[in-house]
Amino acid sequence: MKLEASAWTDPGPVRDNNEDAFFVDEDGGLFVVADGMGGHAAGEVASRIAVETITELLQGDLDPDETRLDRQVGDPGDILRERLRYAMNQASARIRREALANPPWAGMGTTACVLLIEGDGAHVAHVGDSRIYLWRGGRLSRLTRDHTVVQQEIDAGRLTPDMARRVAHRNYLTQSVGYHGPVEPDTATRPIAPGDVFMLCSDGVTDPLDDTRLAEIFEEADAPDLAERLVREAVAAGGEDNITAIVIRVVED
Ligand code: CA
Repeated sequence: MKLEASAWTDPGPVRDNNEDAFFVDEDGGLFVVADGMGGHAAGEVASRIAVETITELLQGDLDPDETRLDRQVGDPGDILRERLRYAMNQASARIRREALANPPWAGMGTTACVLLIEGDGAHVAHVGDSRIYLWRGGRLSRLTRDHTVVQQEIDAGRLTPDMARRVAHRNYLTQSVGYHGPVEPDTATRPIAPGDVFMLCSDGVTDPLDDTRLAEIFEEADAPDLAERLVREAVAAGGEDNITAIVIRVVED
């Protein structure tokens, strides 16, 4: 199986700067989206550091034993997930160090979602509210669960997903890379199949477009410009934030 990826980002109609950062490596099977936050352009700094640190650690020639949190695990999938957790935590530590050394950047942080495809396995990890979706067999499923206050309220039955989209505090994160210090990313592994289409995106896509609307757009999942189309749809739907999408297709060799 091989991967075909495309990505698109737009600062949106309101903001001058783009605090989203992303990374695409089709051959290496590594994809990252980070959505930074913080004043004085600190959001851009945080998301860039996160993307650089995570890709450096996962792609580099470093001893895999040096780049995982728990060195006791032996299963290859477990090792990869430990490496993802390690990379996220290294990024978090690096962002905090930069914030301490540069007072205007105090409090900066970022979301991060990572998709790493190795062999026939897709490994995902995330912190924050950037999401990973999978389009398979005409169905769109969300592979990540937002680290947000409203997601906790949905889980507790105090908010419906629909109400959660409209409350003022919908973007409050319970975890972020950098600002929150040590992070506990959610990680998972699932087998891939030809025809799968993955999407990584910032909340600039999912704030204006709910999952039903996203699925309608994915009905044309074969479109080579799907990432661009998703971003343009988010702008058309009133999105004001920075907007980023990466689309990855799994195709037969
Ligand atoms: Ca955002």
